[in-house]
Amino acid sequence: MRFTRLRLNGFKSFVDPTDLVIHDGLTGVVGPNGCGKSNLLEALRWVMGENRPTAMRGSGMEDVIFAGAATRPARNFAEVSLLLENSDRRAPAGFNDQDQIEIVRRITRDAGSAYKVNGKDVRARDVQMLFADASTGAHSPALVRQGQISELINAKPKNRRRVLEEAAGISGLYQRRHEAELR
Ligand code: ATP
Ligand code: MG
Repeated sequence: MRFTRLRLNGFKSFVDPTDLVIHDGLTGVVGPNGCGKSNLLEALRWVMGENRPTAMRGSGMEDVIFAGAATRPARNFAEVSLLLENSDRRAPAGFNDQDQIEIVRRITRDAGSAYKVNGKDVRARDVQMLFADASTGAHSPALVRQGQISELINAKPKNRRRVLEEAAGISGLYQRRHEAELR
């Protein structure tokens, strides 16, 4: 299973629909300061179910919507789509019946976020579980933010353990146990 395309529409500085095609091997994104490199990685984390505005460098979730510029009005929604190639059929159970999996998250002002997987409405939790089980989730150590290494070095043991659990792909199991205990 691998990422093949990230599509942004109205997300942060990407006001016009933009495709980032992800080929096999290493992909580098280069450009001057402020051109949107970090916004691309935030879009990736967001479509995987990130729900902490601070992880998106914002104060509220709607801050990811294009806020307008001198020559362009603000938008009232943002949408990110992530395409996964799954011809090896290694996607987690429940999502493993197709060669391609498209995850779409859309946020509309005053209406919150909605998610779709291959065109079907799903809950945020379903998308978060899909990536937690695949060990590439929004909190996964596969995505290393600026400053995260020093945070890890200075972290409390409990928080450091959480990173190991995410890397081992078992955080989805903990989440399910926690939910079962609440019932
Ligand atoms: P650096 O090289 O400095 O790390 P970068 O390429 O990572 O830069 P980003 O931080 O991704 O740049 O992009 C910052 C730009 O995105 C800024 O110009 C900022 O104004 C713009 N931006 C962020 N949020 C929004 C928004 N909601 N609407 C419009 N523009 C936004
Ligand atoms: Mg940056």
